[in-house]
Amino acid sequence: MLTHYPKIVVEPPGPKALKIISEDSNFLMQSFIRWYPLVIEKGYGAIVVDVDGNEYIDLNAGIAVCSIGHCHPRLIEAIEKQARKFQHYSITDFLYEPAVTLAREIIKITPGNYSKKVFYSNSGAEAIEASMKIARGYFKGLRPYIISYIGSFHGRTFGALSLTSSKPIQKKWFYPFVPCIEHIPYPYCYRCPWRQEYPSCNYYCIEFIDEYYLQKYIPPDEVCAIVAEPIQGEGGYIVPPPDYWIRIKRLCEKYGILLIDDEVQAGMGRTGKWFSIEHWNISPDIIAIAKGVAGGLPLGVTVGREEIMSLPRGAHASTFGGNPISCAAALAVINVVRDEGLLENSLRLGEKTIKRLNELMEKYEVIGDVRGKGLMIGVELVKNKRSKEPAVKEMEEVVLKCFKKGVVVIGAGKSTIRIAPPLIITEELLMKAIDIIEESLREVVNR
Ligand code: PLP
Repeated sequence: MLTHYPKIVVEPPGPKALKIISEDSNFLMQSFIRWYPLVIEKGYGAIVVDVDGNEYIDLNAGIAVCSIGHCHPRLIEAIEKQARKFQHYSITDFLYEPAVTLAREIIKITPGNYSKKVFYSNSGAEAIEASMKIARGYFKGLRPYIISYIGSFHGRTFGALSLTSSKPIQKKWFYPFVPCIEHIPYPYCYRCPWRQEYPSCNYYCIEFIDEYYLQKYIPPDEVCAIVAEPIQGEGGYIVPPPDYWIRIKRLCEKYGILLIDDEVQAGMGRTGKWFSIEHWNISPDIIAIAKGVAGGLPLGVTVGREEIMSLPRGAHASTFGGNPISCAAALAVINVVRDEGLLENSLRLGEKTIKRLNELMEKYEVIGDVRGKGLMIGVELVKNKRSKEPAVKEMEEVVLKCFKKGVVVIGAGKSTIRIAPPLIITEELLMKAIDIIEESLREVVNR
């Protein structure tokens, strides 16, 4: 029963945290973001514990990674068992069983009733890099263009960063990027780039891409792929309208363009389906997976139609990609998600949470929009509902207050609170966390 969470024993940051924080600023480069002075010591389930013994309800899951919670016994067992056998032998040049078994499982759970193949790397950015090379390679370089979305986040390596368009600081000073990449507006209905309303807009956003980009600007027969997050993550947990991805897929088919689905943040059950694109009932050509796939161990997976995954021997690989311990961990994650009904838990708790947040939206002028699927939920804060001016400072203050009260949660986009707890979280714990978000919100708006 929920009696003692969260548990703040020393006002954070406590003395031990402060000591480590001072060392952080001496030794680590300041490019890392620090939302608040949290210094983690350990975690269990949907709880993280700081070095001073404070216990927080975790709505971050290590940025949508620890989907089966912290220190799940089956995850630990799988990691230990593999670590006792061997830790590394590079899938680039050699073979081991966990990599093949995992590929078979990934193929089973990904959408698309066709033959597929899997490529391994270490991170989301690398899974995206691979998908870019696979797409260009499939067309033997004859279709160099790649289309990405404004507001998207695909990672920070040069290829992935060329697609990313989330915040200028991520790209400032780093130009030039990979050539032949163009960005189109994302269907952000709450702030429609065309100032239209759904559904009376009749999906003008799709018409626009066809008419203004593909018929006037970019030669469509030189475009190899559109790269898309079905639900935009870093950009603000934005959910496109019901038919959007179906229509994009149709547009791709019209011009022979591949659809690359970035499921790095939304995949592996977070939205209540294995992959978020399944909410639109379509099968992409290539899927990039990372974050939640291996329970916190580094792993990137790129999976696609067999005929598209056609790079020749030696064309792409990575020393650490598909590390055997990460593969063993990923197999444990898939089994836990299945055996513990975590897709269902994500859907069920997601619906309850969105209902509760919608009630709060009625009550508070500062909540402009609530959106999400499963346990990928965004609460966009605004100065007032009419102006919709993003309440950036207020969002940061709410998040900081939550931390002080024992809930760890961060923002996305300009002023959206992002709720992405481990999928094993209980209803009691999640509702307690929402109580604390409401309390923090009330304190900020009544200040
Ligand atoms: N794609 C999406 C949708 C992401 O959210 C992220 C990270 O937040 C990435 C790619 C990059 O992943 P990584 O940080 O593992 O390189």
